[in-house]
Amino acid sequence: MQQLVQASDQNLGHLEVQAAHDVRELLRQAVARGTQTNADATPPTCPVCGQPLRRLSSGHARTFKCRFGFIPVQRTRGYCKRCKKGRTPADTALGLEASAVLEHLTGLCLPRATLDREAKRQGQRAQALRRGLGQAAGALVLGDGAVWLWRLSDDRWPQARQRLDFSHAVQHLAAVGRALVGKDKAKLTAWFQPLVRQRKHESSVKVIRQLEEALAALPGGARATAVAREVAYFREQQGRMDDRAVRRAGEPIGSDLVEATCGQDQCRFKRPGQFWSPRGDEALLCLETFWRNRRWSLLFPHSAFHPAKNSYAPHGRARAGSVWCCAPL
Ligand SMILES: [Zn+2]
Repeated sequence: MQQLVQASDQNLGHLEVQAAHDVRELLRQAVARGTQTNADATPPTCPVCGQPLRRLSSGHARTFKCRFGFIPVQRTRGYCKRCKKGRTPADTALGLEASAVLEHLTGLCLPRATLDREAKRQGQRAQALRRGLGQAAGALVLGDGAVWLWRLSDDRWPQARQRLDFSHAVQHLAAVGRALVGKDKAKLTAWFQPLVRQRKHESSVKVIRQLEEALAALPGGARATAVAREVAYFREQQGRMDDRAVRRAGEPIGSDLVEATCGQDQCRFKRPGQFWSPRGDEALLCLETFWRNRRWSLLFPHSAFHPAKNSYAPHGRARAGSVWCCAPL
């Protein structure tokens, strides 16, 4: 910090960041010392049945992440004759062994994979709430029709409406077209376009009815099997395809916007030779988002966004190295 103060080009913002970093390291070291003291003071008894452990061995290292960074801890392991299992009492005392704590409190013995799955489930809910789901007037899940996605949505966000992504629906229509009229492009387009228009501007029920009629006219065989598979797909998704009402409400019919955002971010952050720490990646992603949304001046009020003066192209991608300028523009 003293060296930083002596550097003439460091402003208050730099000092704040450095101070926060230094304090964080001090806190991490304090927590590490307390953790090791706690681990050393934990009695060598089974955390589930309370019996003294046998065949004790010390010095088993484990590193875990806490609020202030990674912390190493040395623990003692032993064998519980009654449970017939190896135990590490310090893990339970420190709250690192969720399955043992749960077994001790409730009598339920759940595998780690189950706990891990439930932790992820609750984590996804918490993440959605942090991003504003609790304040949102409505929630919408756009999916490609995969059953697991709808089930995940039902489980995590039961209040969300579900919608089939338009592009994926079109791909399935094209599969029906290829089975009915072959791969000839002109024929395929002639068959395909009216249905796509109908799908977009009219009722999806009409589209499904036409597909069912086409299926009934087929004698059987591989083509009929392919069409039947797609008809079953559309019947399954029927309640998620009311694109006419969606367009009236001004809502998106596809996940293109999200996919395009992912594409832009991947092009920015997955270039050859780039490696990111999660912390650095998050910070730069935040800046990139402000830049692309033309909200740079919210971060730096003394600067102004001048598309003509910098390399950001309104309909294109920012040129390499043009985005991360934190100095006044
Ligand atoms: Zn035991």
